[in-house]
Amino acid sequence: MSTRIDQFSPGTGDINAWIVGDDEEVIVIDPGSDAARLLDVVGDREVLAVVCTHGHADHVAAALEVAERDEASVALHPRDRSLWREAHPDEDADIEMEDGGVFEVADVQLEVIHAPGHTAGSVCLYCEDLGAVFTGHVLLAEGPAPQDREYPDYAGQLNAIGEYLLTLPADTRVLPGHGPETTIAIAEKKFDSWVAAGPALGD
Ligand SMILES: [Zn+2]
Ligand SMILES: [Zn+2]
Repeated sequence: MSTRIDQFSPGTGDINAWIVGDDEEVIVIDPGSDAARLLDVVGDREVLAVVCTHGHADHVAAALEVAERDEASVALHPRDRSLWREAHPDEDADIEMEDGGVFEVADVQLEVIHAPGHTAGSVCLYCEDLGAVFTGHVLLAEGPAPQDREYPDYAGQLNAIGEYLLTLPADTRVLPGHGPETTIAIAEKKFDSWVAAGPALGD
C-alpha cells in the first residue's frame, strides 16, 4: 500500500495537520492557519477534500484557502457551524459530515465518527486500513483536550472517548490535533485517571 500519513505542524504546541494519501491525491485533516506551508507539504498532489475535526479557529482558519487551490470540498459537522463562522463569517463549508460518513482517498477509507463533547460537532476520522484514528481535540496523548483552558462538556467528552474511541482496536494509532501521538491501548490505561481527575485544570 502506497498510502501514507504526513504530519504538518507549524510550530511547537501548534495544531497538527494530517495529510492522508499517496503520490497522486490527498485528504487534509485540520489545515490550521498556514495554508502556504501546508500546501508545500502537499506538493503537487491533488487535494480532494479538507476535513475539519471541529470548528475552532486554530483548526479551520486556512480551510478555504487550502481547498481553493484544487477546488476541493471542505467538510464540517453542521453542529459546529456557528464556531466555524467565527473564522469564516461569510462562507460555509461544502460538505455536512455525519456519523458513519466515509471519505475515500488513494486506496483507503476514512470513516466519520461523531464524538461530541469538546464541541457539539466534533468528529474523529478512523482509517481502519492504516490503523489510525485522527482525534482532533477529542483526545490528545495527555487526555481530553480543553479549549481556552476549559472543558465545555467534560463528561460528554469522556463519554465519547470511552464509547467511540476505546472500542477501536488496541493497537490503533491516535493522531491528535496537537502534540505527540499515542495509541488506543495507552489511552485505555489512562482513562480511569482522566475520570478521577475531573475537569479542573492545574496551573
Ligand atoms: Zn478545539
Ligand atoms: Zn486546537
